[in-house]
Amino acid sequence: MAHRIVSEDCISCGSCAIECPTEAIREAKDCYLIEVKKCNDCGSCKEVCPQECISGPENS
Ligand code: SF4
Ligand code: SF4
Repeated sequence: MAHRIVSEDCISCGSCAIECPTEAIREAKDCYLIEVKKCNDCGSCKEVCPQECISGPENS
């Protein structure tokens, strides 16, 4: 399981990537993406996202 970013709502602010302790989040073309294998579900990214477009495994 891993956290996910709803790409349509992401404004590429980068806040989530700064908070991620495992460097699982990177910038993509039109949004940021979470690399599933690196995510440990700590939830830090979800807490800082101004768009609330990151969901945890409980929502998937
Ligand atoms: S849940 Fe934690 S480890 Fe996973 S992408 Fe977000 S900040 Fe990184
Ligand atoms: S914090 Fe939210 S809006 Fe900002 S880059 Fe990450 S997913 Fe996108």
